[in-house]
Amino acid sequence: MKYLVVIGDGMADNPVEALGGKTPLEYADIPTIDSLAARGTVGSVVNCPKPLPAGSETAILSIFGCDPLKHFSGRSPMEAAAIGLRLVPGDAAFRCNLVALEPGDQPYEEKRILSHSAGSIAGQDALDVVAALNSDPEFSAALRAADMYIDPSPSFRPLAVKHHCDPSGVCFIPPHDHLGEVIGPLLPSGKDAALAKVFADLMRLANRVLEHHPVTEKRRAEGKLGANGIWFWAAGTAMQLPDFREEYGCGGAVISAVPLCHGIGVLRGLEMVEVEGATGEIDTNFEGKLEATWASLQKYDFVCLHLEAPDECTHNGDLKGKVQAIEWLDSRLVKPLTERLDAAHMDYRLLLLSDHKTLTATRGHDGDPVPYLLYDSRIDSGRGGVYTEKAGENGPFVAHGCELLHLLFER
Ligand SMILES: [Zn+2]
Repeated sequence: MKYLVVIGDGMADNPVEALGGKTPLEYADIPTIDSLAARGTVGSVVNCPKPLPAGSETAILSIFGCDPLKHFSGRSPMEAAAIGLRLVPGDAAFRCNLVALEPGDQPYEEKRILSHSAGSIAGQDALDVVAALNSDPEFSAALRAADMYIDPSPSFRPLAVKHHCDPSGVCFIPPHDHLGEVIGPLLPSGKDAALAKVFADLMRLANRVLEHHPVTEKRRAEGKLGANGIWFWAAGTAMQLPDFREEYGCGGAVISAVPLCHGIGVLRGLEMVEVEGATGEIDTNFEGKLEATWASLQKYDFVCLHLEAPDECTHNGDLKGKVQAIEWLDSRLVKPLTERLDAAHMDYRLLLLSDHKTLTATRGHDGDPVPYLLYDSRIDSGRGGVYTEKAGENGPFVAHGCELLHLLFER
């Protein structure tokens, strides 16, 4: 028996006027997923328990069978695990997003956040931004004084580590939930005002260094958003998760483009499979992910395939892209994968779901219940119907997302 988890990140949504009042899942043409839904079970699940943040950092923990209320200590330690960045006790890790702020020399606090990803900056462009900061005498001195470093990454998602730091007294705000808003009220704040100021000062200084820096101007000249700022958020301290094999009796692999999903897998003792050209965006290497999933299924009984594109499209305000990402999840991943499993006469149980809602209306996350689909290749439930938010609401309700794996493994 093979156990497969397929996550369409941020697929679930609320009805959208531009789609005639349908949600993207209702609007998208997903015949394979719908046929699995017709023969399986569709219900609704809470993956982001209150009062924790609504996002993949809690939702994917739930999906991997770990109660976020018990295990969540912040997002960035999970991402650190994916890049082999070892946190020692006393270290705190942070996301240091490369962001695009309103250009110009107006006061920093008055600028708006244009993009949480600096227009999906990646590759050398992203490495150049961190290099520009690290080579700036004033910025690097400030970083040293703060006992911090920024780990360069070829994406908009570098991590920062601060030694001897307890971040619990500072409130950090995720940039993707405040696109288009003025920065001032969103800067780190909280009862540990001195620590909050360290981070806010670094963010302000980074903007000063980057605003007219050649690496920023180069992107602007290419018609792209310049990464003229950094944004600290997702603070967390070192964490441990229970071993997956001890719990479910098998090893497994995680295929994803994003460090968060990989990191949760690594902390669970699962193999992290990287796919060349997997970008976390609509242009990701679908076929590469398909082959990696198929290869992992030969090696392990448990495989998780994660597709970030629907979430990123929503954050980017790209509704057409979101619908396309959902349709490609169906036609380029789920369809060929289930066809191969069927052709190989492999029995399998599949859990397919959106980890959390990402709302077209706000371009931000939402912690409402999301629909899940559970399918067993040996059984036709005769349920009929499709995979949508509404179908989920009419099906079995799972109050704790961390119990989904038990359902998948029939525990
Ligand atoms: Zn997201």
